[in-house]
Amino acid sequence: MQTACVVTKEESDTTMTIQAPETEVVSQWKVACDGGEGALGHPRVWLSISKERGYVECGYCDKKFIHESSKLSDVE
Ligand SMILES: [Zn+2]
Repeated sequence: MQTACVVTKEESDTTMTIQAPETEVVSQWKVACDGGEGALGHPRVWLSISKERGYVECGYCDKKFIHESSKLSDVE
């Protein structure tokens, strides 16, 4: 009996590559998060990035959105 070893990699159509699962560098100060697909999915919420801190964390999935102007964006 043969074992089919097929690796299917599902990638979204967005041009952004998936980086660290819980960190995303964005160019807007207001972002929407729905947790993406899978177990982390949650109702869509809008998050405002703190201009003082340069990032905001989603209260649902703990995903961190870092503004591209932030020094923290070295976390690629
Ligand atoms: Zn989220």
